[in-house]
Amino acid sequence: MSNPMAQRLNLHRQPFTPWPAIRAVVRAVPAVAIVGVFSLLARGGFRHWSAPSLLELAGLTAILASVGLTVWRYRRRASAATLREELELGGAVLATAFVAVALAGPAIFPLVYLVVAVLVTFVSRGAGLTLLAAALVFDAMEQLPGSPATLGVHAAFLLVFAVLYHGVLAARLRAARSAEENAVKNRIAEVEERARTFRLVNAGTNDSLPGAGHDEKWLLASVKEIEGTLGNALEIAETALKTHSVGVFLLTSDDRSLKLHDCRSQSERVQRERFPAGEGILGALLKRAVPVRMASANGVKGINWYDEGGPTVRSILAVPIVETKGLVRGVLVADRLEYTPFQEEDERLLSTVAAEVLRAVEVERVMGYIRKARDEKERFFRAIEELNRAGAPDQVFLAVLESARQIAPVDFCAVTLVAEEAGQRTHRIVRMTGVTAPGRGLEGRTFPDNHGLVANVVRYGAPLPGREIAMERQVIFDAELQVRALAALKIFPLLAGDRILGTLVAGSRKKGAFDGDALRMLEVIAGQAGQAVLRAQLYEQMERMATTDGLTNLLNHRTFQSRFDDALGTAKRYGRRLSLILTDIDHFKSVNDTYGHPTGDQVLRGVARILKAKARDVDLVARYGGEEFAIIMPETDEKGAKAIAERIREAVEAEVFQTEQGPLKITLSLGIATFPEASQEKQALVDLADQCLYFAKRHGRNQSVTVAQLQPGRRQTA
Ligand code: GH3
Ligand code: MG
Ligand code: MG
Repeated sequence: MSNPMAQRLNLHRQPFTPWPAIRAVVRAVPAVAIVGVFSLLARGGFRHWSAPSLLELAGLTAILASVGLTVWRYRRRASAATLREELELGGAVLATAFVAVALAGPAIFPLVYLVVAVLVTFVSRGAGLTLLAAALVFDAMEQLPGSPATLGVHAAFLLVFAVLYHGVLAARLRAARSAEENAVKNRIAEVEERARTFRLVNAGTNDSLPGAGHDEKWLLASVKEIEGTLGNALEIAETALKTHSVGVFLLTSDDRSLKLHDCRSQSERVQRERFPAGEGILGALLKRAVPVRMASANGVKGINWYDEGGPTVRSILAVPIVETKGLVRGVLVADRLEYTPFQEEDERLLSTVAAEVLRAVEVERVMGYIRKARDEKERFFRAIEELNRAGAPDQVFLAVLESARQIAPVDFCAVTLVAEEAGQRTHRIVRMTGVTAPGRGLEGRTFPDNHGLVANVVRYGAPLPGREIAMERQVIFDAELQVRALAALKIFPLLAGDRILGTLVAGSRKKGAFDGDALRMLEVIAGQAGQAVLRAQLYEQMERMATTDGLTNLLNHRTFQSRFDDALGTAKRYGRRLSLILTDIDHFKSVNDTYGHPTGDQVLRGVARILKAKARDVDLVARYGGEEFAIIMPETDEKGAKAIAERIREAVEAEVFQTEQGPLKITLSLGIATFPEASQEKQALVDLADQCLYFAKRHGRNQSVTVAQLQPGRRQTA
C-alpha cells in the first residue's frame, strides 16, 4: 500500500494543460500583427516587391492569419461579432490595404477608400468610426511631412466614400427588408381572406374568437386542413356521380359574390374569379336554399361557373351549403356534359357531401376555441380523419369509439342507433368499448323508447345531462340495462343534417372528467360520426339496391350471373361439386288473372321466403326472372340437391297464402343440374336445368327433375 498522503496529493494534483496559455498567445496575434504592420509601414516598410525583409513577411503572414482566425472564430458561433473582433478584422483588412498601397504605389490609394467605406457600412458605428479615424491618422502620419495637400484630398475622399457607401447600402438593405415584410403581410392577408370566407375570423368586426387572427401559423394550418377534407369530399362526389366538374363555391363575406373554393374538373375553364351570387341557376338556388336538378339535351342555360369558352353542360345538380340555423354559406355544384340527368339518390349523396363540407368548416371554428397543446389538436384531427375514412357502418362505429377514447378520458363509451318501424321507436346499442368497461355485455341489446337519457337525447336532439347530476339514479339506456360505477357522463346526439341517427354515450369513473375542451371535441366527434354513419348507411343501401331484387330481396339476375361464375370457378379449382336448381311457379298466370297482380306479388315474396329458409347460408338464392328463381349450391351433389329441391317443393305445396278472395295454394316445378356430371360449362348447366324444369312441367308439374332422370341412359360425363 502506498502512503495515504501521496495518494491524496495525487488525487488533487491538477494536470498541467498548455491550452489556456496557447489560447492567450493566439488571441493576441491579430492586435500585435496590426500594430506591427502599421509601425513597419510608418517606418517605410513594404516598399519593394523584389526584396521583402523577414519582418515584413512575418507581419504580412500574421495579418492574413489573423483575418482568417477572426473570420473562423466568428463563423463558429451564431452570435454577432464583438467590438474587439470587428476592430481586429477591420484593422487587419485596413493594414492589408495600406500594405498594398505601399507596394503598388499611391495610384491605388482609392483601394483604401473602398475598404473604409465597406467597413463603415458593415461594422457597428463605434468600430466604423474608430477604423475611419485610424485610417485618417495613419495617412496623416504618412503624408503630413511631405504633402499635406494629398492628405486633404485623401481625407475628403475617405469621408465622402464612407458616408456615401454607408448611406446607399443601408437604404438598399432597408428596402429589401421592407419588401420581405410586405410579402409576409400579403400572405397573411390572403390567408385571412380565405379564413374569412370560411367565417373562421369574423369579417369586419373585431375578432370574437379569442386570439384568432394573431396566430397566423395556426390559421394557415387550419385553412390547409379544411382544404384537405374538402378535397376528399369532392373526390367522393366526382367518383360516385361521374361528374365533369364538381366544385364548392362559397359566398364572400358580404354575401354578394360566389367564389370558387375547390373543385375537381376535367375542364380548365371553371370560373376562378368571384362572380355575382344573385344570377343564373345558382342565384335562384341561393335565394330558395333548395337543391336544383336540371338537364337539357341542348345544354342547360344559366350556368355561370365556367368562364368564356366553357363546355356545354347537359346535366347539372347543385345543392346549397346550409348551416343548421338556415344560414346559406355557398353551393356545391356537380355537372355532366352528357345528357344523363342526375337522380334523387345523386341529390342525396351530394347533400351528404355538402354537409361534410360544412362540417369541415365547423370543426375549424371549434378549433378556434380549443387552443390547447399541439399534440392534442393533432390527435383530434387524426380522430376526425379516421372517421372520415371509415366506410362500412361497423368501421364507423369502431372509429367513433376510438376517437372518443383518444380525445377524452372515457372509461365507457357506446354508440346507439335509433330505428323506427310502424311508428314504434327502438334503440340499439350497436357498439361499446372493451369488455372490461362498466357496461359490459350491453353490446347488441335493444330497448324501447322510454324516459332514459339516450331516448331523451334522440327526442330533443341535444346533449344530456345538462350539468353534473347524481349518477346512481340515472337511467342511461333502460332500467334493465345498467351501467355501473360512472361518475361523469355526457350523451351526444348523432346528427346528420336535421336527422337524429342515434347517440354517442361517453362516461368516466372520475368525477368532472370531461372539461370544456373535452366536451367540445366530443361534440364535434359526434357530429362527424352522425355524418359518417349516414354516409355508410347510404353507401350500403346503394350497394344493396344494385345487387338485390326490390320485390323479394333476393339477388338479382345480374348478380346471380357473376356469383355463379365465381362459385363455378371455385368448384373447378378445388374439384368440388356444385348444383343448380331452377324453379318456376305452376300456372302462375292464372293466379294473377284470378287474384290480381298484387296477390301475385305476395305469392312471389312468400316463395322467396321459403327458398331462403330452406337453402343453406352458403347457397345463393336469386330471382332469375318474373316468377322463376335459381339456387346455386356449392359442395352439393345431385342427390343432395334433389333432397333440398323436394323439401322446397313440399314446403311451397303446404303453404297457404291468405288473400282477400280466400286462401290460396300453389305448387312449384324444379329442374336440377349438377357440376361436373351434367356439364362443365355454365350455360350448358343452365340449359340442362331448364330442360329438366320443362320436363317437370310436361309431366304433371309440382315435381323436381334431375339431369339423371331426364337422360336415364346417359352415363356420367367426366
Ligand atoms: P307454367 O305452369 O307453365 O309455368 O304456367 P305459368 O302460368 O306459370 O306460365 P309462365 O311461367 O310462362 O307465366 C309467367 C307469368 O308470371 C306471366 C306473368 O304475368 C307473371 N309474372 C311475371 N313476373 C311477375 C311479377 O313480378 N309479379 C306478378 N304478379 N306476376 C308476374
Ligand atoms: Mg315462367
Ligand atoms: Mg310458371
